[in-house]
Amino acid sequence: MRFTVLASGSKGNTTLIQTQGSKYLIDAGLSAKKTIEVLLEQKTTIDEISGIFITHEHGDHVSGIRVLCDRYGVPIYIHEKTYAALKRNHRPTKMERVFFIESGRHQVGPFEVEAFPLSHDVAYMLGYSFHLAEKKLVYVTDSGYVNQQLHEKLSNADAYIFETNHDPEMVRMSGYPFSVQQRILSDRGHLSNEDSAMTLAKLIGPKTQHVILAHLSAENNTPELAKLTVEQVFQRMEVAETFQITIAKQTKSLPTYQL
Ligand SMILES: [Zn+2]
Ligand SMILES: [Zn+2]
Repeated sequence: MRFTVLASGSKGNTTLIQTQGSKYLIDAGLSAKKTIEVLLEQKTTIDEISGIFITHEHGDHVSGIRVLCDRYGVPIYIHEKTYAALKRNHRPTKMERVFFIESGRHQVGPFEVEAFPLSHDVAYMLGYSFHLAEKKLVYVTDSGYVNQQLHEKLSNADAYIFETNHDPEMVRMSGYPFSVQQRILSDRGHLSNEDSAMTLAKLIGPKTQHVILAHLSAENNTPELAKLTVEQVFQRMEVAETFQITIAKQTKSLPTYQL
């Protein structure tokens, strides 16, 4: 399988996953117009997209889905509670194109897709892992922490797209209202650089080729700080760095990686 992080951050998230003849997105947090544009840069038209897997109802993950589903007929895979929580302007109405998805394993096209619950201040929060021909890609963003019970399931993936949202000190110095700071830092907020690295250090295995640091806060993080913190934790926890660490960007697609 191949994957391309097309956009990542609090202004919109979308990632393309593909194999011979099948293309899917995880989240569509850019406008439909912008999604179509960034896909074209990947030589992909919107009618080639076989489905969009939705993680949760926040705008930076769903902004494009109503138009992409209702106007362009792209199927949407979404938890029923997430669908119910969508604002009207984000809610697709072509119900024959909306598929409710639960935690657990599902065969979708050529992929075995596992949806699993994460911890965020929403109606329901899903992470995903994609499995194909012994390869595994894990996608985790927007989670205050990653439950220990998931660790085995998520271990030794070929690639991780993993949130390193913020530096806690930068959040405290940010001038954000206290309630907002508490929300970001809570168990139902976002993974900090350090927490993300500690979790990744436990998950990474001999098969791991790529670690993509994702969903960086524009205000409370920098790419350099995220990378440095992760590398320091990996060193401290004696993780052999046999993989590539890449920072996902808000306004530019990453290269396509083949697993
Ligand atoms: Zn988000
Ligand atoms: Zn969110």
